[in-house]
Amino acid sequence: MLKIGCHLSISKGLYRAAEIAKSIDANTFQFFTRNPRGGRAKDLDMDEINSLKEFRRENEFAPLFAHAAYTMNLASKSEKTREFGRMILKDDLDRVRAIGDTYYVFHPGSHVGQGAEKGIELIAQALNEAIEEDNQTIILLEGMSGKGTEIGRNMEELKMIIDGVKNNEKLGIIIDTCHLYSSGYNIKDDLDGVLDEIDRIVGLDRLHAVHLNDTKVEFSSNKDRHEVIGEGLLGLDAIVDIINHPSLKDLPFNLETPNEPEDHKDEISLLRKEYKG
Ligand code: FE
Ligand code: FE
Ligand code: ZN
Repeated sequence: MLKIGCHLSISKGLYRAAEIAKSIDANTFQFFTRNPRGGRAKDLDMDEINSLKEFRRENEFAPLFAHAAYTMNLASKSEKTREFGRMILKDDLDRVRAIGDTYYVFHPGSHVGQGAEKGIELIAQALNEAIEEDNQTIILLEGMSGKGTEIGRNMEELKMIIDGVKNNEKLGIIIDTCHLYSSGYNIKDDLDGVLDEIDRIVGLDRLHAVHLNDTKVEFSSNKDRHEVIGEGLLGLDAIVDIINHPSLKDLPFNLETPNEPEDHKDEISLLRKEYKG
């Protein structure tokens, strides 16, 4: 069974989002832990979390993705921004633990001119502080398209962050198909080669999840513009190869394409049809 879903709003709560996911034939979904541009998060309602757990069990959901706010920049130049980032990281990890069976996904950050090395050091430091000894949550660094001073533009940078974290058993990566292509990994013409490289640098055992997006921007452009599945420069054939690849086919996939839930339903049904298990 293909594990597929899409990014959904939780403005009406996590339980409602799970119902919407089910209604579009998804068995996972992604949500923002808090307003993606702001900082505040609603208090968790434990009754709702318990009903959600029940619902997910009944409907055999795959792990969910909790995506961090874009305002969380652990690599910032400003001590205040870093401090804020460390605070929401801690709080997010508490929340994700309570929700259960959910991967925590975040953009490593931007070094804003300090250099990637310094940024990587700051990110690893923050993770060292936030990850408790008994951490059970899988935390995933997202590979980025490499715009501006983004960190995580290649596998080497992701690996350096992982190596800088002591308690890193549960620290892994998530690939975003749009970002991979625009950061210069040719998953369209050489998927096997790219996966070999991910395995060589980071290790495929660290790869836990995929953001499945087509792209509006060219190969190696370092830009980040997602497109509806099959309508972009990757195209349907490349995406079908991705969901069926032996190294990827059992991972959970979430779409972040520019679509409303009703349209994601069509993307999901198309992908389910093309999935060979
Ligand atoms: Fe992301
Ligand atoms: Fe993404
Ligand atoms: Zn993106």
